[in-house]
Order: sequence, then structure tokens, then C-alpha cells
Amino acid sequence: MKPPICVICYKEFTDSDEGGLVYFEKSKSDERWIKAMKVEGLTGHPPYADWFCEKHFMAAKELSKLTLIEAMEILKEKFSEDLL
Ligand SMILES: [Zn+2]
Repeated sequence: MKPPICVICYKEFTDSDEGGLVYFEKSKSDERWIKAMKVEGLTGHPPYADWFCEKHFMAAKELSKLTLIEAMEILKEKFSEDLL
């Protein structure tokens, strides 16, 4: 797992209540990743999930029916002033 740092504003969480991990719809390449990890017997940070701080968590959650890439395009537009 990656450390909990918001993928939008790069805010690091000091408290687990401040935000959370959002799981998005899996793309074809994500399905391949899952299969490969299973075959290798490995675990890792899922490519279809990412961390969002308190400010961005709900907006990300609302878009979780999209893939991470699709959702990020919308979120980056919506929160363009928060991007580094
Ligand atoms: Zn954030």
C-alpha cells in the first residue's frame, strides 16, 4: 500500500479520519494486474485505488463508478486550484 497522501493536493494524512482510500472501476489493464499479482503471489497497491484527503474524498467517491483515469480527469478539472 502507498502511504496515505491525497492524489489531488498531496496532503499527507495525520489522522485516518481525514480521508480515505477510494476504489474505482477496474480497467482492462487493472484486471491484468490482479491476475499477474495472483499468479506471482504478490500484493501491492491496486492501480484502481488511490488516497483522497477529507476535502476531496466525497467527490472522488461519487466518481468511483468510473475508472481511476476517467475520474482523475474530472477531479483535476474540478479541483484545478488545489493541484500542485
Ligand atoms: Zn486533497
